[in-house]
Amino acid sequence: MPTLQASAQSRSVPIVRDAEIEALVSDYATPILKAAGLGSRGIRIVLVNNNSFNAFVDGRRIFINTGTLMQAETPNEVIGVIAHESGHLAGAHQQRLREQLRRAQTMAVIGMLLGMGATAAGAAAGNSSVAGAGGGLALGGTEMAMRNLLSYQRGEEMTADRSAITYLERTGQSAKGMLTTFERFANALSLTGTRADPYRISHPMPRERIANLETLARQSRYFDKKDPEALQLRHDMMRAKIAAYTGAGGGAMRLFRNNPRGIAARYGDAISTYLNGSPKAALAKIDALIKEQPKNPYFQEMRGEILLKANDSADAAKAFERAVALDPKKSSLIRMSYGRALMLTGSKGSMPAAIRELKAGIARDPEFPAGYGYLAQAYGQMGDIAEAELATADMHYYSGNIQEARIFATRAQQKLKRGSPEWIRAQDIINSKKPRS
Ligand SMILES: [Zn+2]
Repeated sequence: MPTLQASAQSRSVPIVRDAEIEALVSDYATPILKAAGLGSRGIRIVLVNNNSFNAFVDGRRIFINTGTLMQAETPNEVIGVIAHESGHLAGAHQQRLREQLRRAQTMAVIGMLLGMGATAAGAAAGNSSVAGAGGGLALGGTEMAMRNLLSYQRGEEMTADRSAITYLERTGQSAKGMLTTFERFANALSLTGTRADPYRISHPMPRERIANLETLARQSRYFDKKDPEALQLRHDMMRAKIAAYTGAGGGAMRLFRNNPRGIAARYGDAISTYLNGSPKAALAKIDALIKEQPKNPYFQEMRGEILLKANDSADAAKAFERAVALDPKKSSLIRMSYGRALMLTGSKGSMPAAIRELKAGIARDPEFPAGYGYLAQAYGQMGDIAEAELATADMHYYSGNIQEARIFATRAQQKLKRGSPEWIRAQDIINSKKPRS
């Protein structure tokens, strides 16, 4: 499994799943959500694989583009954006939009928001006909949802800014990152060529708003406080990873030109070598990093990926096992990788452990389709065809491919004991119309 991968949950939104990035962004968001009184609401963070800068909320989720993480030079800049979005969430802003989102297809709306880059570019060029072109992606109710989003009230923005300042103050953090980010958006010069960020469209940044924000931000005794060094390093490593996978920022080596021998630059280089070069060379690079940070679970995870590419699934399984043991967040993704590597060894004796690990991952993350695919393969190797077909049905179900899901569920059900939990699950899939989004 590529570490950075698009979930097939929706065909329009490439969702990134990566244990390391999810853990870091969760560490950014958790104290802020708590300070906002949202700690118990189970707000989920969803990473969107898109190079433009964007962040938005839908009532129970905060969506953040990988482009936001790439463009932010410090953790504090991302934390500021999360604080502002939390302000919208806590203030129950955009109630109408959220209702629209629930009624319309959430994912279609997000796909449209991603398409808004084109709209923004047209608007920047002062060409209203071009400005309308991005709206071509919109259909029916989703277009109304977009209009609601765009009718964001200036008052709501100011309120969200003030809330954000409060959350940052309560958590002993500076609002400088938020100010830096918004100033960048307020500056028309940041719109170069056809590149325009949807965030700027949904968050109007008049000078007056920036001036108010700056006054408030500077009143804090934390204004000049820097992010902890260890957090900055994790941030740099995350950017190196995204750069390696997406080619954004000209790759990790260019991103960290000032410190080419630093851990982040070498991590990005190891990942690039894994993706584009020889597994042997990549292994040497990751092993050097493991020597420096032996307790880093994501280095072990990357080692496992490299070994899988080298067709050494037995050693890959050992690396993933170590990653699971070291992972403080108990990520479902690393457990699924461990289970997958065990499955790929092809040895019958490893299959019960493979199934155990895959099921443990799925239990934490039941809507991630790939886990079911590996589970189906493991059951297939055991000769358990009914379970293999049921897992295949689940994989299609969570990929949004209901027709295929029903076919496999029907096949599985013929072999399952009537009334058993597996039989009932197959029946649920057969009866289903469309997956939850
Ligand atoms: Zn806002």
